[in-house]
Amino acid sequence: MHPRLDKLLEQLDKASTQSLGYPVSFDFDYQALYPFLAYSINNAGDPFADMTYKLNTYSFERDVVEYYARLTHAPKDAWWGYVTNGGTEGNLYGLYLAREIYPQGIVYHSQDTHYSVSKNLHFLGMKNIMIRSQENGEIDYEDLRETLRVRRDVPPIIFANIGTTMTEARDDLAKIKAILDELAISKYYIHCDAALSGGYLPFIEHQNHWDFADGAHSISISGHKFIGSPIPCGIVLALKENVERISRSISYIGGRDTTVTGSRNGFSPLMLWQAIKTTGDQGLKERAEKALATAAFAVECLQQAGVAAWRNANALTVILPQPSAAIRDHWQLATANGISHLICMPNIRRVQIEALAAEIATEIEADNKAGKKEHEDD
Ligand SMILES: *Cc1c(COP(=O)(O)O)cnc(C)c1O
Repeated sequence: MHPRLDKLLEQLDKASTQSLGYPVSFDFDYQALYPFLAYSINNAGDPFADMTYKLNTYSFERDVVEYYARLTHAPKDAWWGYVTNGGTEGNLYGLYLAREIYPQGIVYHSQDTHYSVSKNLHFLGMKNIMIRSQENGEIDYEDLRETLRVRRDVPPIIFANIGTTMTEARDDLAKIKAILDELAISKYYIHCDAALSGGYLPFIEHQNHWDFADGAHSISISGHKFIGSPIPCGIVLALKENVERISRSISYIGGRDTTVTGSRNGFSPLMLWQAIKTTGDQGLKERAEKALATAAFAVECLQQAGVAAWRNANALTVILPQPSAAIRDHWQLATANGISHLICMPNIRRVQIEALAAEIATEIEADNKAGKKEHEDD
């Protein structure tokens, strides 16, 4: 191996032991798929249609989306989906479908929405109104109701967060639908950004209303987050009738053009398929439960160290006041507006959290001493 690659490998190895701040699982093993890297696999177009090019993994891709369609209660024979390059593409796709149905529609989303969404809205030229968030990151239903009330003439497109980026707060589709009912709004579209939470919510007990059974028209989930993969990927699911509006038959590929990009990565579906097959429902449930237990442990551990840590119900994300730049850098903690978070993905170990808590405790103690000294000097 080239020495520069050797060095990179070493750096990656080190960085991966100190990564607590981002929602990516590292506990995967896809080495069995190595032989498939020798082929120029391409899943261009619709995985449910045919293609003239035979080096594709459509059937595996279909299994993966079918799996998540079942988990998200997609209506039988009335859904469609594909494996994307990540949650962002799935969100773009959901908004695209919504725009084709309601070209004049206005998109409503909370302040805590992922940063990529405003770019997506800009691409699509969609009007949008930002709704206030509650303290925990969930959409403010009062503000949503009052904002919808004055624009009842325009079909709303609700961009719901099923786990916000910063606090993993989940907007409640039951509450949103109750507001739409109350205002007698019958034409609307609901897209769910379930990048992180959507990967594991189906495996745990929870009170959230977030999937097709609760009124979603499309759902985007990241593949490299809860499931985990060395290449970012995701799953998008949508109601079939809405996809058919945008479908075009393309003679050049001998297939249907229903996706955002042309050529598509056919390797990611293999990884997701392998993870789902080898881990299974029960294994994924255990992984989710273990990660949630780690998150509960993290809150307790940090609180004992004197840190005002908290998390939303059934969330892997633990929020704390931002520690020093040195600690944030060491543990790769994502930070915004004075708060940092760590995300207890299945690969995170308790000793790492204990080490973080100890570092912060030392810092708090040093600060207290300095504060006391300052006081004495007065
Ligand atoms: C990570 C994330 C995204 C973006 O997903 P990618 O897979 O990184 O493209 C969008 N929304 C939320 C809430 C996220 O956490």
